Amino acid sequence: MTGIDQLCPNCGLCCDSTLFADVELQRSDDPAQLKKLGFKLFKKGGTKQAFSQPCACFDGKLCQIYAERPKRCRAFDCGLLKRVNAGEMTANAALKKIIDAKQRAEKVRGLLRSLGQKTETLPLTQRYGDAMSAPIDFSKPDEAEQRGELMLAVHELMQRLERDFLR
Ligand code: SF4
Ligand code: SF4
Repeated sequence: MTGIDQLCPNCGLCCDSTLFADVELQRSDDPAQLKKLGFKLFKKGGTKQAFSQPCACFDGKLCQIYAERPKRCRAFDCGLLKRVNAGEMTANAALKKIIDAKQRAEKVRGLLRSLGQKTETLPLTQRYGDAMSAPIDFSKPDEAEQRGELMLAVHELMQRLERDFLR
């Protein structure tokens, strides 16, 4: 069993917008074909094209277009996958870190929902920005406290993502 088989079906953090807000197309990608597969592309930085996450082709567990996935997706191995493939970490140890990160991401999503940011189709970072920049509703006694909890939960999640997945 490969590292991908052991880890990725239990994870999905690089497809559900927890790790990335979008994915840039590379020169060898075929935008017309990707549009046919259901991607909504947008212009990024003037010349590049990208699609937003959560990815339209992610079913919550697996990539639905795995054989035809864009170049960037093919090239990405997170830090945990690299370490498992290199024999530097066991798959079980990596899975524990995945479970922890997913629980932390779910806590962030729960707080966002409580604060009224319920648009699950937007990237997590955008939802966080929207929730924190909205005017405070002083009629809700818990709102300031929930914002504080959200800030802390996002900070802790980002620390784990940076440490375990992005290096
Ligand atoms: S973040 Fe890593 S383990 Fe998770 S799905 Fe992506 S490549 Fe697989
Ligand atoms: S195309 Fe597949 S691998 Fe790439 S982000 Fe979407 S679900 Fe993930």
